[in-house]
Amino acid sequence: MPGLTGAMPDLPSHASPIYPPRPSSGRRVSEFDLNYDDSETPPPPTLLSPAFTPPSTPGANTPPIHKEARSIPVDTASQRPQKLLDTLPEVNCIVRARIPTVTGAEMFLHLYQNNVDDKEHLAIVFGPNIRSRSLDAPRPGETEKDRMIRGAYTGRLHPGRTSSRLDPVSQDKPATQLPTDQTIQSPPLVRIHSECYTGETVWSARCDCGEQLDEAARLMSLPKSQGGVIVYLRQEGRGIGLGEKLKAYNLQDLGNDTVEANLLLRHPADARSYGLATAMLLDLGFGGDAGIRLLTNNPDKVRAVEGPNREVIVRERVAMVPLAWKTGGREGIHSEEVESYLRTKIEKMAHMLQ
Ligand SMILES: [Zn+2]
Repeated sequence: MPGLTGAMPDLPSHASPIYPPRPSSGRRVSEFDLNYDDSETPPPPTLLSPAFTPPSTPGANTPPIHKEARSIPVDTASQRPQKLLDTLPEVNCIVRARIPTVTGAEMFLHLYQNNVDDKEHLAIVFGPNIRSRSLDAPRPGETEKDRMIRGAYTGRLHPGRTSSRLDPVSQDKPATQLPTDQTIQSPPLVRIHSECYTGETVWSARCDCGEQLDEAARLMSLPKSQGGVIVYLRQEGRGIGLGEKLKAYNLQDLGNDTVEANLLLRHPADARSYGLATAMLLDLGFGGDAGIRLLTNNPDKVRAVEGPNREVIVRERVAMVPLAWKTGGREGIHSEEVESYLRTKIEKMAHMLQ
């Protein structure tokens, strides 16, 4: 990835001897230069995630009010997301670790840094065949132990392991390390998920974010699944930050819906951007014709995730039907608030819930 070498001179090139880079998307190196555009217009505002969410502890504090002005793009309700970016952000996977989960499924959590904000965006990777190019690339002077500590190993770690690459002692079957034909035939499932402290951590029934995260993980860890990736972006409250989201909740209790509440606070209905997600998907090897299957009800997200030059191709959209609807009310979230939230998503944000 030529774009990374300029911004991060201490890092090596991203060509990996084990996982060779994908064929180039055809862009020239010069196009990664911020000064490339003759018009000298600044980067589009929604390329930059609003700086509200603390980088590592969601919801731990509310940033000061004076930061608000920097984050506000114009009304994106009528904006076509694909016009916003000329080039993708540069991303670099810093560390990866195996996480066993409470459902029994295992995933690999990948932590990314990037050149547009200082947040720690994440890729939650299910299945052993999806690898980060930037993580696997060798770094100057590092030892095998260094590589294992930052997660750039194949197979499984175990006490006494000495090599990141070869693991003769491991019990892993070869099939868990090498892509199979099946993997190539069926595009992997991808979900782009925006952080929601209230819905994921403190049991809020105002939205269905927690449920959607659970459902995406479930689908990606089914026995027949080819795995998949949840790109977890730190853009709380549709990008406006937790403090502003809580104000919006108060406005909702005063009778406004979620879109009106954001507009009353002078935020766009949806301030999120997805260039980081596209760049992370490319790093995870999802460029090229095979494409992905995108789990979403949001039609705007499909095109936005593909990137400015369709660097990632969405082959299928997979709907996320709320559990309460799917099960006739036996499971899922029950609250007046979530009903109204879903209604607004459908009526005002053109979500397609099937
Ligand atoms: Zn939520």
